[in-house]
Amino acid sequence: MPAHLMFADADFPFKQARFVVLGAPFDRTSSFRHGARLAPNAIREASYNFEDYMMEYDLCISDTMLCDIGDVEECGSGEEVVQAVQTVVKKIVESGKFPILLGGEHTATIGALHCFKDAGVVFIDAHLDYREEYLGERFSHACTCRRAAEVVGVENIAVIGVRSISLDEKEMEERPFFIPAYFVHEEGIEQAVKGALEGIKRDRIYLSIDMDGLDPAYAPGVATPEPFGLTPQDVKWCIDYLAPKLVGVDVMEVCPPYDNGNTSALAARLIRCAIASVFKVHPL
Ligand code: MN
Ligand code: MN
Repeated sequence: MPAHLMFADADFPFKQARFVVLGAPFDRTSSFRHGARLAPNAIREASYNFEDYMMEYDLCISDTMLCDIGDVEECGSGEEVVQAVQTVVKKIVESGKFPILLGGEHTATIGALHCFKDAGVVFIDAHLDYREEYLGERFSHACTCRRAAEVVGVENIAVIGVRSISLDEKEMEERPFFIPAYFVHEEGIEQAVKGALEGIKRDRIYLSIDMDGLDPAYAPGVATPEPFGLTPQDVKWCIDYLAPKLVGVDVMEVCPPYDNGNTSALAARLIRCAIASVFKVHPL
């Protein structure tokens, strides 16, 4: 039994696991609110709020062969956390298991993407994260999508829920396909997700959820809250629709010092949805 705090119902040893939780307690490049490094354990604690049985999927999380291997070590720079996450996710993927990354700053996602160079990436995010660098840092939370494009190709990325981009990002000739939150409000999440997948010509999808993609009413405890966001139901629909294609998931940018507990709870619940949904379409 590992000594660290574990995600609820993660009772399986690594060898027998199908899903593996990994934390990235990193927030060194946070520009507004600090504290996302505390998120992995806050999400783990919140995960004990829920019943093992998930009524809408009619299955128990404890039956999905879930393991929690703890956190990568706290890192000095964004580049170091990317390297550290990549090393561990590589082991998870090479063992034929499904990685679930808990952030921490969005920067850490890039480490996981290095293990899925042939996959498409769907981001849920209020921001485009497409700056070349931010505050002198290339591996910053504000550059996640830009670094992702260097790994999987900009044409294989779609960002859903965007409602904040810089003028530079707007005027760029080449940028990732994105669907504004306003489109989701008007046309519905189904049109948004189907539209996102149209451009991505890849069968395997990595889903990266920046919790600020959700409205601050549902997810107040994030590093950079942005009004007019998505609902939890929108994101759940996205998870369930993508499940047959998913190869990995992360839930990033929870910032516990600014949370009333609901953001961590929602993050834990979305992770449980992803596990249940993927397990349901690919039962062993
Ligand atoms: Mn964001
Ligand atoms: Mn982000």
